[in-house]
Amino acid sequence: MNNIIDGIKASLELKKEIKKEIEKDNLTPSLAVIQVGDNKASEIYVRNKQRACCEVGINFISIKLPDTISEDVIIREIQRLNNDISVNGILVQLPLPNGFDEGKIINEINPLKDVDGLTFPNVGNLVLENECLVSCTPYGVMELLRLYNVELSGKDVCIVGRSNLVGKPLIQLLLQKDATVSICHSKSKNIKDYTKRADVLIVAAGHPNLITKDMVKDGAVVIDVGINKENDSLCGDVAFDEVIKKASLITPVPGGVGPMTVASLLKNVVKAYKIQNRV
Ligand code: NAP
Repeated sequence: MNNIIDGIKASLELKKEIKKEIEKDNLTPSLAVIQVGDNKASEIYVRNKQRACCEVGINFISIKLPDTISEDVIIREIQRLNNDISVNGILVQLPLPNGFDEGKIINEINPLKDVDGLTFPNVGNLVLENECLVSCTPYGVMELLRLYNVELSGKDVCIVGRSNLVGKPLIQLLLQKDATVSICHSKSKNIKDYTKRADVLIVAAGHPNLITKDMVKDGAVVIDVGINKENDSLCGDVAFDEVIKKASLITPVPGGVGPMTVASLLKNVVKAYKIQNRV
């Protein structure tokens, strides 16, 4: 059906633009990713990032630490990367194993190198509409909406999920586009009352089939951020097969938001390089 948003195609276009920009201006951006422990999903995510960096000409530095190390070792590693002028982006692959203080560790990253947009200054600057590095998944969602010409001004947008990584930054990005934003979470009552009136529905809860067709307005744009594993395959938070019949546009899982998250990370690394080198 032609109402499916093709995140793979969109991400390829973005990557092509990024590669061209790097080659044209002879940029030498580099990204360091710190991974702690051996979470299988994280291994896959880090490999995908490495492959994408390689495709566009970003130098990729992989730092793997065992989960037996102390928080101080991670912090010292971050400080070393902060001081290394050849490193433009630093990313700590989340989630960290139990017992590590993610907030404290992330906030050791120099905000100018914080390509995940999670440090206090980047979050604050996003709220204040100053220049900043924006969290990659929300950035990728906004890019998809832009590439598919989805009008946001004056539209009702409902976000399901209020995480620091996805839901909260999306509120700001959508407000900047003059959307009217409502946000639901696990304590919200009658979620359907909010989702059903949304012109654009963005779901990031981590629950398969949370959104069914009766919860969606006719002709809505539905962006499914969720990634869930069911019977050895991946699915999102939206009951895709039934919601596709009501939506004017819908993202599949996989192949929707996921590839755009990686492409947005590459964009952030190049942006960080340019800010640091005043290009
Ligand atoms: P998270 O930190 O676990 O947050 C989930 C949010 O959903 C929370 O705000 C939670 O509410 C809310 N929620 C949970 N169950 C709900 C329900 N039944 N009804 C309404 N709200 C509910 O997760 P996250 O990091 O934001 O990720 C969300 C999903 O997106 C996951 O499946 C994750 O794998 C996926 N993801 C995908 C990408 C990508 O690139 N495609 C990137 C990041 C995340 P409370 O705040 O009340 O707990």
